[in-house]
Parts: sequence; structure tokens; C-alpha cells
Amino acid sequence: MCNVNVGNTTRAADNQSLPMKKLSDILDINKERVDMNSSISKLKELLNNSKNIVFFGGAGVSTESGIPDFRSADGLYSESYQYPPETILSRSFFDVNTEEFYRFYREKMLYPDAKPNKAHFALAELEKRGKLKAIITQNVDGLHTQAGSVNVLELHGSALRNICLLCSECYPLDKILQTSGVPLCSCGGVIKPDVVLYEEGLDYSVMTGATKAIYDAEVLIVGGTSLNVYPAAGLITHYRGDNLVLINKSETSYDRYANLIIRKSIGETLGEAVGL
Ligand code: ZN
Repeated sequence: MCNVNVGNTTRAADNQSLPMKKLSDILDINKERVDMNSSISKLKELLNNSKNIVFFGGAGVSTESGIPDFRSADGLYSESYQYPPETILSRSFFDVNTEEFYRFYREKMLYPDAKPNKAHFALAELEKRGKLKAIITQNVDGLHTQAGSVNVLELHGSALRNICLLCSECYPLDKILQTSGVPLCSCGGVIKPDVVLYEEGLDYSVMTGATKAIYDAEVLIVGGTSLNVYPAAGLITHYRGDNLVLINKSETSYDRYANLIIRKSIGETLGEAVGL
């Protein structure tokens, strides 16, 4: 792991299917609104009463900062790319087709102008108040850190760090943004973003830290993810408490285990619950 100056940027790692509008949802709109208000109240109550909150977030947290989920629009890429995003973002593709990897990566994965949204700021505020112990994220854009959060466990690495494969020299995001083709180190080695590509394992110490934080958590808030991506999503099975909160616009595979489900924007929800 290397340290470079934090700018801001990138990708998301989760698959969010579009919510299906069911007839029952349409008929119960008013009821849902009432329930939604009481859900936010319940969330506020949980936040007020706990000093051991952990947040686990996916792509939906970053989409509200204008960073699209790279998997949600496969079709859009087909015209200019011969391969699906999952293929291009694999280690074997990086090793063999480095230039094509970087063409996709610069065009579709980097959003240097993206800014943290209310979800990022609300979580940073909860940490400042001594309530939130850790943020575990599948995103590589560094927006939590930019919002002021300190204990951020980046399961899929960070686009803000880039490492020479030969000498391990670290480079900031600007190195990727200000070059074209394959970015090279001063030693001549190829520079690779410090993000976990398909076919690569997750960082052991980050996984251990995330597992422990979830195991020890009193309140676990899961947001902006449909929890379909493994092994990251499997992490929440380590939760032992009885305050599992899911904030996601569509259903997730863990809905039946949740103690509170809020189907609303994560930024609005956390912003309101924290009082931003
Ligand atoms: Zn080097």
C-alpha cells in the first residue's frame, strides 16, 4: 500500500438493478411515505444511541456524486470497446492489453471532478462525533477520505494510488490523467492503479480489518449496494448485532435479515438522519 496526495476520482464495483415498480407499490404510495418518515426517525434513534456504528457502502454511494456504476450500462460501451467492462478490468487483460485497459480506465473509471455528497459528509460527521468506527467501501474514488473520514477500509483499493510494477514507486492520480497510452515509471516500469482488478485477491489486512469492524459493530448500516458482489458482500455475514440497516433504492439479497430497510437516496437519508 502506498501513500500519495489525495485528489479525487472513480469507479464503483457493484451491480444495481433498476427497481421494478410493483402494483402494490403504486397503490401504497401514501402508506410508504408515512413509513419512510418513521424509518428515518428509527434511524436517527439508532444513531443517537450507539457509539459503535459501522458503514458498508457500494456503488450507490458514489452514483449520487455523479460517478456511474460501470456495470449498469454495459450496452453503452459496446460501440467503442470490443470487450465487456468485466473483461477489460481483469488482471490478465491489463497484463496483455495494457494500452486498451488504460483507454477504458481513463474514459469510464476516472471522475476527477466528482465531489463528496451528503452521504460522505454525514458519515464523516458521525465519525467526528465518536459514533462511527469504520467505513468499509467497495468504491475506489477516495470520496470518503475527501469528505473528512479517517478510518476508511477500501476493499477494492484506490484510484488515487498508482504503483510501478517494477520498483513499487507510488504515483498520484495526476500521473494517469496527465499522460496518454501506458503510464511509465521513471525506471521504465509499467504503472498500475492500486485497485483490485478481476482475478486479483482482496488485500488481506483490509479484509481482516473490515471483518473485525463488522463483527464488533453494534449498528451496521449497509448502503448503495444490492449485495451481489462477492467476496465483499459476504463480509456482512460476520455481523452479530440486531441493528442491521439497509439503505438502497432497490431490493437486496439481505432484506429479510434487516431490522430497518430504507428505500431512498442514501445521501438524503443519511443527511437527514445526521442533521446536515
Ligand atoms: Zn519504477
